[in-house]
Amino acid sequence: MYAIETEHLTRTFEHVTAVDGVDLRVEAGEIFGLIGPDGAGKTTLIRMLATVILPTSGQARVLGHDIIREAEAIRGQIGYMPQRFSLYGDLSVWENLNFFADVHGVQGTERKERLERLLAFARLGPFRNRRARHLSGGMQKKLALACALVHRPRLLLLDEPTTGVDPVSRREFWDLLADLLAEGVTIVVSTPYMDEAERCARVGLMYEGRLLVQDTPDAIVARVPGQLVEIHLLPDEDGRLPVRRARETVAQVEGVLEVQTHGDQLRVFVPDATTFIPRLQEALTAANVPFNTIRQGKPHLEEAFIHMLRDIGRESRMLTI
Ligand code: ADP
Ligand code: MG
Repeated sequence: MYAIETEHLTRTFEHVTAVDGVDLRVEAGEIFGLIGPDGAGKTTLIRMLATVILPTSGQARVLGHDIIREAEAIRGQIGYMPQRFSLYGDLSVWENLNFFADVHGVQGTERKERLERLLAFARLGPFRNRRARHLSGGMQKKLALACALVHRPRLLLLDEPTTGVDPVSRREFWDLLADLLAEGVTIVVSTPYMDEAERCARVGLMYEGRLLVQDTPDAIVARVPGQLVEIHLLPDEDGRLPVRRARETVAQVEGVLEVQTHGDQLRVFVPDATTFIPRLQEALTAANVPFNTIRQGKPHLEEAFIHMLRDIGRESRMLTI
């Protein structure tokens, strides 16, 4: 059984089709990443799965329950972290945890123990009496995650939980997610960060309400047509990286499909790496462009997404790396 299974799930707002015929499958115990530019429909999809809003048409089952007829059963078994703030700024860390425990009817002797464990899990023990609004952004996210876990949900729906958080806190947050996965919790997480998407077992790319693809990062990358050659450039006599000259030189080699720049690296898409490596090498040497290594590489997930959007006729400036 899938943890989440949707059929042509659709939600419109007046003139906007925010989610358009989505068939999503999330397996139990996996971490699934939802990617897509602002306005793609990620939040609307997650809110339907969390039973916060109703679909306009289509169906979905979450943990085996219908999102329309069995919303109560779903709510008791999922943890939902909305994109916008869910905490109470005037309440302390400890009070927030207790508030969410009340909301979810977590009572009895194990309640205090559970909340203490979550406090330790989120590494917020030293801050238990601090008001939520005085926590750093990263700590607020960890507290929101802890609050979403008070009732031991089997499925977590996290809507951009790390957006705007510093890199160290992002890594800490993902360490917490890894702990939850190890306990068997299923996680759906939307993110604008490609490095996070690459950590997911499977990812779905949304665009204009549609789910364009859902697969493992490796399988998505394997769909990119042609092969990739990576060229590491070296500084020229003036101590500058001759990025522009290198790009122009490489782009003129017949048969080259596309050239991208990534730091000191040229990323060149060609029909076949083995034949093109010597040709590229020759062209760069003739143009006096210094480089260190030239070898076949693997496309980034972002590059695969850009290719997919081009296939449907959309140029994109979509994604954050
Ligand atoms: P994402 O989370 O990927 O940025 P959203 O689901 O928030 O995308 O939005 C998808 C589209 O639906 C956008 O065009 C947005 O403006 C629209 N939308 C979302 N929520 C509402 C709403 N409550 N009322 C009207 N339009 C909405
Ligand atoms: Mg959103």
